[in-house]
Amino acid sequence: MIKFDKLTIPDEGEKIQIINDELIVPDYVIIPYIEGDGIGRDIMTASKRVWDAAIKKAYGIKRKIIWFEIFAGEKAFKIYGNYLPEDTIKAIEYFIVAIKGPLTTPIGGGFRSLNVTLRQKLDLYSCIRPVKYYNGVPSPVKNPEKMDIVIFRENTEDVYAGIEWESNSKQNLEIIQFLKDKFDIKIPQDAGIGIKPISEFKSKRLVRAAIKYAIKYGYKSITLMHKGNIMKYTEGAFRDWGYEVAVEEFKDKIVTENDLWDKYNGKIPTEKILIKDRIADSMFQQILTRTDEYDIIAAPNLNGDYISDAAAAQIGGLGMAPGANIGDFIALFEPTHGSAPKYTNQDKVNPSSLILSGVMMLKYLNWDKPAKLIEESIEKTIKEKKVTYDLARLMDNIKPIKCSEYASTIIDNL
Ligand code: NAP
Repeated sequence: MIKFDKLTIPDEGEKIQIINDELIVPDYVIIPYIEGDGIGRDIMTASKRVWDAAIKKAYGIKRKIIWFEIFAGEKAFKIYGNYLPEDTIKAIEYFIVAIKGPLTTPIGGGFRSLNVTLRQKLDLYSCIRPVKYYNGVPSPVKNPEKMDIVIFRENTEDVYAGIEWESNSKQNLEIIQFLKDKFDIKIPQDAGIGIKPISEFKSKRLVRAAIKYAIKYGYKSITLMHKGNIMKYTEGAFRDWGYEVAVEEFKDKIVTENDLWDKYNGKIPTEKILIKDRIADSMFQQILTRTDEYDIIAAPNLNGDYISDAAAAQIGGLGMAPGANIGDFIALFEPTHGSAPKYTNQDKVNPSSLILSGVMMLKYLNWDKPAKLIEESIEKTIKEKKVTYDLARLMDNIKPIKCSEYASTIIDNL
């Protein structure tokens, strides 16, 4: 049995197991959660009430989540004197699926970001962000309902590798000299330098995960988003490796855009997933002008970062966009926004992003019934214009309700 320094495993419930490459979820499943900093307490309390109520409504007493609190961020610092204790990493690895609230990046704590550290330590290489419109949410575009995409963003390399040297630093000057001596490349002496690694293994595993997701959830297309016209051996290679993994490993399930016209007269054969690619800049136009032609977008880290927020803006902003960081099995679900410290303990902010991250988690567990109930109820609640301040200010003459009241209304509407 696993041993922790300061955590006690709940008496009730069992852990998820992986047997023959499959997730086996017990009916009373132990799920570790990190409350989060700032608004974390408000939104985690509200969200747990919604998830529990939906599971009860769907399954009665047959299924239940046994919550197991683990610590990161300010709460962890109080208990362990460390913002990201080893217990927390061990618990997520052992229990396989976990959910977290947002974490404030400690200033001068030696971490670039707790979130980035968690993703790297657990090798959670796909950042998955579904971006879908819920009826009634105020949106800046005319047809927000056309948006229903899932972004797979590579989580461990490209700019997230964090390899940079400051202008005029010793290492920077050495690299400039090395490039000049070895390759006759001239870089201005005062330039900062960053290195952007994009590898075959990591690109392929991301695109593989995106294809498996498309197969599991019935999506019709995957678009590889890249800037390969300019950066041939990083971004362009990402595209080439993406096609390679599709053709070599999923031949019977996919059709490439080239083959679509050469062999199928432009009509996607039923049951096949279209694999296409688009240059990053055009992708930003496309999600605005031809929104419904896109389903899954697979992208290296930086492209994925930009397109996630741009897409989320069309469906009501980050407050409505859930997220997950998933590795080979280990999955950590989290809202896309931060800890908004100025709203701490005000019972004010919108918990939808975290609630919907929990919906993703329920689907990952194959508990689809409560997931669907929550999605329908959120839609109903927003249509009734019972919303928190962020959405209320985008609607006419709507008095906002509190975070906890919003959760209660969702529960009533289940
Ligand atoms: P933020 O926490 O996302 O907040 C920025 C603004 O977004 C808020 O002031 C608020 O806007 C709005 N907002 C965020 N969450 C909301 C919610 N649930 N409901 C309604 N509105 C919401 O970004 P930040 O202020 O830049 O970052 C604060 C801390 O969070 C930093 O330490 C940062 O490093 C960290 N962070 C953590 C994560 C993560 O844990 N994954 C992600 C991003 C940032 P208005 O005031 O305009 O209403």
